Amino acid sequence: DAKKAGGNRIRRYAAGLSSQNVERLEVETQLKQALRRDEFLLHYQPQIQIASGHIVGVEALVRWQHPVRGLVLPIDFIPLAEESGLIEAIGEWVLRNACAQAAAWQRSGLPAVRIAINVSARQFHDPELVAVVAQVLADNGLDPEQLELEITESMSMKDPEESSRILTSFKALGISIAIDDFGTGYSNLAYLRQFPVRCIKLDRAFVSELGSQSSSDAIVEAIVAMAHKLDLQVVAEGVETAEQRDHLLRYGCDELQGYWYSRPVDAATFGVLLQDQHELERGSYLDVAVCN
Ligand code: C2E
Ligand code: MG
Ligand code: MG
Ligand code: MG
Repeated sequence: DAKKAGGNRIRRYAAGLSSQNVERLEVETQLKQALRRDEFLLHYQPQIQIASGHIVGVEALVRWQHPVRGLVLPIDFIPLAEESGLIEAIGEWVLRNACAQAAAWQRSGLPAVRIAINVSARQFHDPELVAVVAQVLADNGLDPEQLELEITESMSMKDPEESSRILTSFKALGISIAIDDFGTGYSNLAYLRQFPVRCIKLDRAFVSELGSQSSSDAIVEAIVAMAHKLDLQVVAEGVETAEQRDHLLRYGCDELQGYWYSRPVDAATFGVLLQDQHELERGSYLDVAVCN
């Protein structure tokens, strides 16, 4: 009888699993496999200093090379990885691989650029993260100043005191912090001032309306001015046109990222972009030398 009742319970439980949950379980299993089979990869998007046009940084963006589905973008697996607790392992994979790649570019003679990595909420609150970051930097012989962690505005504002404590421990390590998707959530520059943060990344929602919605121009101009007063740099996300770049330059925005300059590309292609710029710079020095 007891056995029969247990069987019923199991059947009821199984029937209670919605198809959505089944799908979720499947993706979880596949994500675990993906880690074991090394199916993740990173694409890299340059960050340009607007005034000089130089590449000064690069953001690592994770992708999943799925055996059947092809290249899967983060929106289709990061939220699930976050819910299921696999994000710590994936996040550590991203950190290790991005830092190893940055060290490899440097060894090949390319100029050192800052490498930015996205950190999820769960990773951010993981007490081990600071030690892991320190270890990965040491393993790859990278200067802490070369690493930037991106946390979203909403993550940082959820518990400002706790965030401040965590960010201070990163600051002590010497790495820098960017506030991602700035302006999409509960914006509070006054709070941000208390955080040891290098920059805010202005969400592309503002950037896309530059030149067409005068309110966006006013908002961007005001945010840049206020950020600078608070000693924060501003990076514009999702810059797709030269016109948007011109507006950002006029408002004194520091850096940009977006399809206008380059889409996220594989490591080899980013190496070529960096190499081209390096040669251009050396070329212009030579020109000066010849003129003299
Ligand atoms: P994000 O950190 O805000 O990254 C910027 C996103 O905007 C990227 O999408 C990038 O490809 C896209 N983008 C860049 N320039 C342009 C543009 O000019 N126009 C448009 N329309 N889009 C542009 P992606 O790679 O699909 O990543 C989406 C989000 O997934 C990221 O947003 C980030 O929140 C998250 N993510 C990516 N990689 C990781 C990771 O390694 N770990 C974690 N935890 N999250 C990640
Ligand atoms: Mg980001
Ligand atoms: Mg962003
Ligand atoms: Mg964004």
